[in-house]
Amino acid sequence: MSAAIPTYHIIGAGIAGLACAYEIKKRNKNIRTVVYEAAHKLGGRAYSYDDKDLGRRLDNATHALIGANKNMARFIGRTEWEKQIYFWDAEKDILSGQIQRFAAHVLKSMCNTPPSQIARDIIRKILWLTFPWTGGKRKLYFSRQNLSQKFANFFQSSVDELKFDHKLLKIDSQFCKVAQLNFGSEIIEIGPEDVVILAVDNRSYARLMNEPELPHHAIINIFYQTSQKITLPRNANFIGVVNGLADWIFVNDDILAVTISAADTLAMDLQELARQTWKELDKLRGVNSAFVPTFKILCHKHATISQDEVTNSLRPANAHGKYPNLFLAGDWTMQNYPCCMESAYLSAKRAVKTIFKDKKR
Ligand SMILES: Cc1cc2nc3c(=O)[nH]c(=O)nc-3n(C[C@H](O)[C@H](O)[C@H](O)COP(=O)(O)OP(=O)(O)OC[C@H]3O[C@@H](n4cnc5c(N)ncnc54)[C@H](O)[C@@H]3O)c2cc1C
Repeated sequence: MSAAIPTYHIIGAGIAGLACAYEIKKRNKNIRTVVYEAAHKLGGRAYSYDDKDLGRRLDNATHALIGANKNMARFIGRTEWEKQIYFWDAEKDILSGQIQRFAAHVLKSMCNTPPSQIARDIIRKILWLTFPWTGGKRKLYFSRQNLSQKFANFFQSSVDELKFDHKLLKIDSQFCKVAQLNFGSEIIEIGPEDVVILAVDNRSYARLMNEPELPHHAIINIFYQTSQKITLPRNANFIGVVNGLADWIFVNDDILAVTISAADTLAMDLQELARQTWKELDKLRGVNSAFVPTFKILCHKHATISQDEVTNSLRPANAHGKYPNLFLAGDWTMQNYPCCMESAYLSAKRAVKTIFKDKKR
């Protein structure tokens, strides 16, 4: 008699959850993968949506990758993204292409944490990955819209069943194992060979497991809709800003997008912030706009966990959950890594590797 085919239940359709399905299928096509997602969209914190105010599809943020983010680059495709990178010092009004001079700025964006607070081990990791002094790898790449679709295209064949609007409310255990997943309207029984992977953000994890929530930092994105494509100096499509309000400026057709990392200390009213930032953009372009174009502000209050020394030490050191059939994935679970799309992917790889190793025993 052949053994029953196990189901691997994945909670969360962010990059970590979707990558778990992909990694499972890579190892064993016969395992059934079911992904449960609280929202009605793919991608978690990297998503696309139809913005009614601007009348077009937007990504929640222009996501950046570094050259060393090989896994994510494969999924999203990087050839179209490659560009020389320029930084503008808003105070001194100097534009430069020397990324080394702006290392602190790059660290702040990559860790969404004020540079002086970033854990040393994470800095070490980033320097190693970003500036290997061999050239080539220190390039930055930026997503060119429609992230959700890109993830859907890449991962969909790995997910046997995708259940949207399924928010996990409670994990019920019996005999020290996960026995049931409670989604309110549906209860899922966990079979003896089944596995549960929690690939949720830290706040959801804390609620589900009754653990303290880690501190987070905000990221603000402002999307200005211009009547025609704005030209940035040196014809760049993106520019890093130091000593200004913005951290990054991106041009994509009629949208000029601005990203501000570690934005929780900004005391300004958001509408005022958008107006002041537009003035900064005027200065960069050497113009004096008559009015501020229509804009949309997205504030992700809990964009990533803080990547300071203490918080980093509280991140899980491995993929094991509280029960032997429960595993963890998600950007925040990778100690000593910046919280980013690549670490979300790497956490999935680690979780699946751990599961298969445990099963062999
Ligand atoms: C504004 C912004 C800008 C960013 N910029 C960059 C960047 O430039 N480069 C970069 O690499 N990274 C960037 N990041 C970080 C990157 O988006 C995240 O690190 C990555 O997407 C995290 O993926 P994840 O799968 O670990 O978590 P998530 O994307 O948070 O996925 C978790 C999923 O679980 C679901 N979920 C939660 N609770 C439950 C529940 N109880 N039941 C069912 N489902 C649940 C959530 O809805 C979500 O879909 C940015 C993030 C933000 C917010």
